[in-house]
Order: sequence, then C-alpha cells, then structure tokens
Amino acid sequence: MRENAPVNLSDLLLLGQGSDLASERGVSCDGQLPDASDPQLVARARAARKALGSSVLVLGHHYQRNEVIEFADITGDSFKLAQEAAKASGVENIIFCGVHFMAESADILTSDKQKVILPDLAAGCSMADMATANQVTKCWDELSSIGLAQEVIPVTYMNSSAAIKSFTGEHGGTICTSSNAEAAMKWAFTQGSKILFLPDQHLGRNTAVLSLGLSLQDCVLWNPWKPLGGLTEEQIKKAKVILWRGHCSVHGRFSIDSVNEIRTRVPGVQILVHPECTHEVVQAADRVGSTEKIIKIVEQSPAGSKWAIGTELNLVQRISQNNPDKEIYFLDKDICYCSTMNRIDLPHLVWAMESLVSGTVVNQIRVAPEVAKYSKLALERMLAL
Ligand code: SF4
Repeated sequence: MRENAPVNLSDLLLLGQGSDLASERGVSCDGQLPDASDPQLVARARAARKALGSSVLVLGHHYQRNEVIEFADITGDSFKLAQEAAKASGVENIIFCGVHFMAESADILTSDKQKVILPDLAAGCSMADMATANQVTKCWDELSSIGLAQEVIPVTYMNSSAAIKSFTGEHGGTICTSSNAEAAMKWAFTQGSKILFLPDQHLGRNTAVLSLGLSLQDCVLWNPWKPLGGLTEEQIKKAKVILWRGHCSVHGRFSIDSVNEIRTRVPGVQILVHPECTHEVVQAADRVGSTEKIIKIVEQSPAGSKWAIGTELNLVQRISQNNPDKEIYFLDKDICYCSTMNRIDLPHLVWAMESLVSGTVVNQIRVAPEVAKYSKLALERMLAL
C-alpha cells in the first residue's frame, strides 16, 4: 500500500547520502520480507547461511539484537569490523549487520569486486546525520576566511557519512573510533595546531580533556546552524579543539541522576560508560571505555563485582548473559536501545541471505569512486595509527 503512495522527498529523513529515499517509508525490500512470526525463521536463516558457505562473511556490531548476532561470523565495534572488512579480500559478499556508515566504510575498504549488503537500508545513525557535507564545507570555508583552515586538522569519528570521511581525507585528516580517538588526536597535533573534531562533541571533549590533558577552555563548540559556528574569531583562534555540535541520542540519555540513583540503590557498584556519554557523566563514572574495552573490563573483573554500564542496551544484556558470576545493571532506569541498529532484525537478515542464495544481491551499499578515494585515505590513516 505504501509503495504506491506518492513520495514527497522533502518529508523524508535522509540517511547517509540519501541513497535509499524510499526505505524510510518502510519499502526497503521487494515484498518478500519473511514474516517475523514465521516459526521457520531460524531454520531458514541456518539453511541460507549454510548454503552461502565461505562466499559470505556476516559482520555483526555489538549493538545488534541477539537473533542477528547468532549468525555473525565476527562481532565487534566499528573499528574491529572495519579491520575485518579490510582483511576479507577473499570473500565475495559481506553482509553488514550494523548501520549505514559502517557498511559504507566496509565498501570503501574492500575491492570493487566485493559487495557489501546492509539488510535494512533504513539502519542509519542520528549522530552521523548531524554533520552534512554542505555544513562541513561551509565550516571549512569560514575557517579559511579567518585564515585558520591551514592549521586545522580534521579528526572524524567513524560515525559519519562517506562524504564527511572524504572531506577529512582530502584535508589531511584521519578517521577515529572510540577505541583509538586518543591516538588519532595525538597524531593530528603532530600535523597541525588545531583539531576540528566531527561529529561527536562528547567523544572529542572527553578525549581532549581526559586523555590529552587539555582543559575545557581549550575546546569550543561549533554550531553548524550559526555563522562562524556561533563563535567569535577570538574564541576560535584561542581554541585547540573545535568540537562539532553532534551527539549520540542513545548515550546522551545517561545523566548524573542515573549515576547517583544507581550508586544509592546498589552499594559498591562501579559505573562504566562509553565516551559518547556527556563529559559530566564520564567524570562521575569509575571507568570509561570503547565498546570493546567495556566488554574486556567486565570479563576481567573478579566474580561478584557489580557494574552499572552506560551503553546500548542490547550489548549490556549480552554482557550480563556472558558474565553470570557478576552483577550487571543498566545505568539508566528507562530502556535505551539504538532504534536504527535494531532495524536489522532476523526477517531482514533472512531476506538478504535467501536473496543471495537465489543469486540476487539486495541492498548493496556503493560509495561513489570520487567519494571513496579520499575516504579510503582517511580510513587507511586510521588503520595505520
Ligand atoms: S548508538 Fe548512537 S552513535 Fe551508535 S549507531 Fe546508534 S545513534 Fe548512532
């Protein structure tokens, strides 16, 4: 029914580069999507996976649902999955169970012959959408107009569109993830005197202050909706780090109230959060770490230890299942799934795999060669850090 409705493009939320405008209206597949209540769904997934054999690699981000992770050959955070995609030169098809920007990065890092598939094209990232190519170009032009662009090195979080990664590579910068943001920023300060950190202000601020020893006053916040980012020339000249005004809607939910509430409710609990949380929450926590680091910290902690974890709920639930000898709490009182990550479900995965079995590639993510050129340079700089 919705497929026949007239599409008004201005009504749609653009994801990534707007390569799949229709998917936001729930038409991301050709009508063959299996019913979620199909009792044969798991059996169909197993049969399709077996039939595809080694011609396919299924990558699963840690924030994916259990029903999807069960079929992942490799699980990891965005850094680990980018490394795995780059290494998978013998694999014909990569099914990426994650979000749009991750699949774009995998396409950039693989050969032209390999195909990267995102089971639901509507799996985007609200943070990545907070920095558009036009906004970033305008910011750079404004920095140029006050004579500063030549001393600024862009450091761009993996959670960004291929177009922003391309901008970064073209302007001498690097990509980073939450695992290597410190190394990326240290490298950038060997190349220039200022960093433009895109698009997550919290990861940029937390890394600058807590890992590099800069002060909060060394950081300024660039608002892309205002001329000169809403800053004065003087403020930008004094700053060492220009933070883009973007954030993760999932990690942004954790608050000081959540921290205080759980400390009162669970005596002896340790708070462990992701660096996409706000600076005040990170400062109030006992430990901070990337997704991979969070998993390791809990795994290596003694039996009986108590952890309240501030990251995506699918991962926290899995950590709890895998560590039955520890007490694991979710830091917030309300549920906190990443809604776009959750769009990849078993029906979409089965559809993508069964289509491949029948010789049809669906939902292929393709980054234009002119965008891929400099994006690859920026990603390779990161992989070499
Ligand atoms: S958790 Fe946040 S940063 Fe990660 S994909 Fe979801 S919205 Fe984007």
